[in-house]
Amino acid sequence: MTSSALDCLSCGACCFGGHDRYIQLFAEDEARALPADAVAEIDGRRYMRMAGGHCAQLTPCAAGLACGVYEMRPTACRAFRAGSFECLKSRQHRGADAARLLMLAGVGGPDPSGPVPPQRPPRPRAA
Ligand code: SF4
Ligand code: SF4
Repeated sequence: MTSSALDCLSCGACCFGGHDRYIQLFAEDEARALPADAVAEIDGRRYMRMAGGHCAQLTPCAAGLACGVYEMRPTACRAFRAGSFECLKSRQHRGADAARLLMLAGVGGPDPSGPVPPQRPPRPRAA
């Protein structure tokens, strides 16, 4: 599967995690102007704050699920590439959760855990 077949806005699966230490912030993330309420400090380390099983910055919008801090998103998120092993793993394990959030938000869209239709153009997770 190629990254060009994956649409991040209709997915968002990699923004879901089972615990509060899912997205850790590193030293270089200090320079990114992340809002204070986007970050949680746990045992002296900083993480993206989670809410409802996903990063609290994952935001339903007309186009799907967008990153609310796309320009400032941390290194861990930038390293996540559509079509990578980690991407496909997230889609497999968290795709249903993301599809549920899309449905609750009334956005609809394809089920990220299902088969990916070919030739869907890649789109960034920006709002
Ligand atoms: S990188 Fe993969 S898992 Fe993450 S939103 Fe894009 S398609 Fe979904
Ligand atoms: S910062 Fe943006 S890309 Fe990273 S987990 Fe949160 S919503 Fe997803």
